[in-house]
Amino acid sequence: MLVRRGEKIREEEGRARNASLLRAPSNDIGSRGLVIAEVCSCKLSEECKGLRLVLPLERSELELRTGAPNRRAWQNRMARECWGYAAFDHSGTMKPFRFTRRKCRSEDICFEVKYCGICHTDLHQIKDDWKELPATYPMVPGHEVVGIVCEVGRDVKTFKPGDRIGVGCIVNSCGQCDHCKRHLEQYCERKFVWTYNDKDIYVDGNITYGGYSTLMVVPERYALKIPEALPLDAAAPLLCAGVTVYSPMKHYEMEKGGKNFGVIGLGGLGFMAAKFAKAFGMRITVISTSPSKEQEARHALHADHFVVSTDPKQMKAAEKSLDFIIDTVSAEHSMDQYLPLLRTNGKIILVGIPSKPLEVSAFNLHAARRCVGGSLIGGIRETQEMLDFCGKHHIFCKIELIPIGYVNEAMVRLVKSDVKYRFVIDVAASTPPEFRPN
Ligand code: NAP
Ligand code: ZN
Repeated sequence: MLVRRGEKIREEEGRARNASLLRAPSNDIGSRGLVIAEVCSCKLSEECKGLRLVLPLERSELELRTGAPNRRAWQNRMARECWGYAAFDHSGTMKPFRFTRRKCRSEDICFEVKYCGICHTDLHQIKDDWKELPATYPMVPGHEVVGIVCEVGRDVKTFKPGDRIGVGCIVNSCGQCDHCKRHLEQYCERKFVWTYNDKDIYVDGNITYGGYSTLMVVPERYALKIPEALPLDAAAPLLCAGVTVYSPMKHYEMEKGGKNFGVIGLGGLGFMAAKFAKAFGMRITVISTSPSKEQEARHALHADHFVVSTDPKQMKAAEKSLDFIIDTVSAEHSMDQYLPLLRTNGKIILVGIPSKPLEVSAFNLHAARRCVGGSLIGGIRETQEMLDFCGKHHIFCKIELIPIGYVNEAMVRLVKSDVKYRFVIDVAASTPPEFRPN
């Protein structure tokens, strides 16, 4: 049962027996002097599950002491109504979905989502492509999220209402392990929490929902500042596509420039890789299945070479020309097609995540002491560094802005590599009026 602020419903006092301490924050004081409260979510009793109460306001804060001590569960259920698009099965299509978000805890930030990029990962996930990361439905995708802060918890120091904020792929991690301490949360030894299709084991164990939705709540540690110099919509893809390619490029010291760099696949990740490669002073070869992308690659991205990978003559001519390749291909493919493009000691870094294992011939590796590596997104500190770099150098993605109702068509086009170069959902403009935060 959903109750809006100020709305009076039947009192159900007697049924609150599993709530240990109910505190109704001041913003839940209804307009007619009522406190809207909600019975705990301890799930110990069928009776109390999901029940909400409206009780007379006696003090600015209502305390109700009863049986089992389960204050945390209660607080986590003090939730906000939210609206978005969700997948309900592996068909690849999504529908509108109403759900609730937890309210801001002291370390949380709540923000209104303005824009959210569509990463190919969203498509893999809604279609349940990966056995390593199985789908839980309903699934609200979206991990390239930007918006405006509307509320901060009392311990939040670095954000205030009205600030521009971004959230990428990570919304929690243990914070204690060696990797977390070195700002490599994406390799957290215990577990990091994905922005969607995961369980936040550090908060309440609830399923995480992503940015194809009106509101998000995130701990301050995982929130990012979007530089003022960047357009908010075109900055969204930086939160995943941007950092996913920036991180290995930094790790392999490509920012020193002067090398020959190749990128396979000119989609969201590929476009960002080409942008960074140019900013780092490398010579760029775009390796693509789409001849239609050549003109833009050469003129807008200043690519030095464009190789159509389905043309054996062009591939032959490009052999042994590259020091680094970033492979962003989302579909099944053979590494052996691309390895000959690397010079001696060349490295190919996989960031694309096809659902099936890739083929690699030992000869293609040994013949020129080549390396194959992989890389997963980026840590929070590195993501902020990348955003600041983009702000300074005016780097952002070329996007196609769409209303949320277009997501299913966008997914069909994404399969065909028919987007230049990232779909970004205009979430705020697509939100029904009753779900617009005030
Ligand atoms: P995208 O926008 O769809 O781009 C992928 C590009 O790959 C396409 O535009 C296309 O470029 C090329 N391509 C598609 N099918 C191909 C095939 N059969 N053979 C060769 N090339 C093909 O996808 P994205 O959002 O950039 O994501 C790419 C991949 O990275 C996905 O698998 C995604 O899950 C993964 N990803 C990984 C991480 C990570 O942390 N490692 C983070 C984010 C995303 P052309 O038209 O130029 O050929
Ligand atoms: Zn992504």
